[in-house]
Amino acid sequence: MSIPPIAILGAGPSGLLLARLLHLHRIPHTVFERDAHRSDIGQGGTLDVHAETGQLALKKAGLLEAFKAKARYDAQRMVIFNKEGEAALTLDGTDGEGRPEIDRRDLRGLLLDSVREESIVWGAKVAAVRRSPVDQSMEVELVDGRVHRGFGLVVGADGTWTKARELVTKAKPVYSGYHYITAMIPKTSPYHTKATSLVGAGGIMATGSRRQIAAQRMTDDSYSVAIGLALPENWSRQTANAELLKNTSTFKDWAMTEKFSGWSTRVTDLIKNSEGACRAWPLYAMPVESLSWETVPGVALIGDAAHVSTPFAGEGVNCSLHDALQLAEQIVKHGLDDLTSAVSEYEKFMFPRAIAMITESQANGEMLFAEDAPRGFVEVFSAFANAEKQG
Ligand SMILES: Cc1cc2nc3c(=O)[nH]c(=O)nc-3n(C[C@H](O)[C@H](O)[C@H](O)COP(=O)(O)OP(=O)(O)OC[C@H]3O[C@@H](n4cnc5c(N)ncnc54)[C@H](O)[C@@H]3O)c2cc1C
Repeated sequence: MSIPPIAILGAGPSGLLLARLLHLHRIPHTVFERDAHRSDIGQGGTLDVHAETGQLALKKAGLLEAFKAKARYDAQRMVIFNKEGEAALTLDGTDGEGRPEIDRRDLRGLLLDSVREESIVWGAKVAAVRRSPVDQSMEVELVDGRVHRGFGLVVGADGTWTKARELVTKAKPVYSGYHYITAMIPKTSPYHTKATSLVGAGGIMATGSRRQIAAQRMTDDSYSVAIGLALPENWSRQTANAELLKNTSTFKDWAMTEKFSGWSTRVTDLIKNSEGACRAWPLYAMPVESLSWETVPGVALIGDAAHVSTPFAGEGVNCSLHDALQLAEQIVKHGLDDLTSAVSEYEKFMFPRAIAMITESQANGEMLFAEDAPRGFVEVFSAFANAEKQG
């Protein structure tokens, strides 16, 4: 059996969209994914997919209709509250097509349905990527010891801690100082009706005193709830905190008394009534000054692997899908005999886009986690909305 010339690490949004586009152009490839099955997905939640980037990429992949069938166009409304529980700003989706939401699970499902099943190796956690000293081709080593050899290009699409990054840069993601901790309000919750009247079909975020409570409606009408806190990087790995996270009701008591006491019950009721496992997400971003490496033959990074960002610009998945589109277009243009030019051309688009996203997210994060939040955020977005109205 001949070895496909392109290895893709990771079956997240960026890796799967690249696989789909290569499949459409009959370019052989293999995806290595650490999850054991297609139904395993480490991260839940919902993603807003933007018309000019994420949706454009899905359209070019012939997946826009499948996306539209799953997307929630009524979920584009976001209301920002202060800690007194008063609505300070309402962000309505600017137009009907602009930024609909899709559950992460649904996005993965529709991408998986669009690729060749045999192109994905499940349960394939990558341990290392290296260049063969014999013929300079690329090798992918899995944690179980298997080594796949002979690739012309390895595409790191394996997220924040990609195994391909060290081949192109010494830089690493830097901790932002903030965690999100997530849980759920299921449809069966006695509080669900109240959650619906507060959050509706879209999302809310209450912010102040360097902390946040956020909630978003999911496809099954449950709500995902996240609290944002300034915490040390290894907070969830410290034994006492790991124990705290294991017991949702103890964790909720801790959050309500230690972190959100004095906040309006209108918003803290979201914490009080959340259920299920609590998961901690320390938030990282690549330093913007690191995003300009020399092209390395045989290696490309896309999505979070290239430019993980804090999520405050809502651009992460859009940038990731756009990366996959532009890398695929360059591979098609330059052909398998000149993959280095393809990667080099792709990187010229990717670096400025990534720097803009990380910079915007950092600025939004500073406003949303300010002591007097949401004041600054409301001022900036109100001015922006007024300027748009005036044309
Ligand atoms: C809490 C949170 C909220 C977010 N909210 C938003 C939002 O509202 N809007 C938005 O646009 N973005 C958001 N993001 C960012 C968004 O999730 C990412 O930008 C996007 O998922 C990146 O896609 P990706 O395919 O590059 O990487 P990922 O989604 O991280 O996928 C990587 C894939 O690689 C696999 N993998 C990892 N390591 C290995 C390995 N060693 N070997 C093999 N496989 C591996 C993983 O299992 C996964 O399937 C959020 C992120 C977080 C953490």
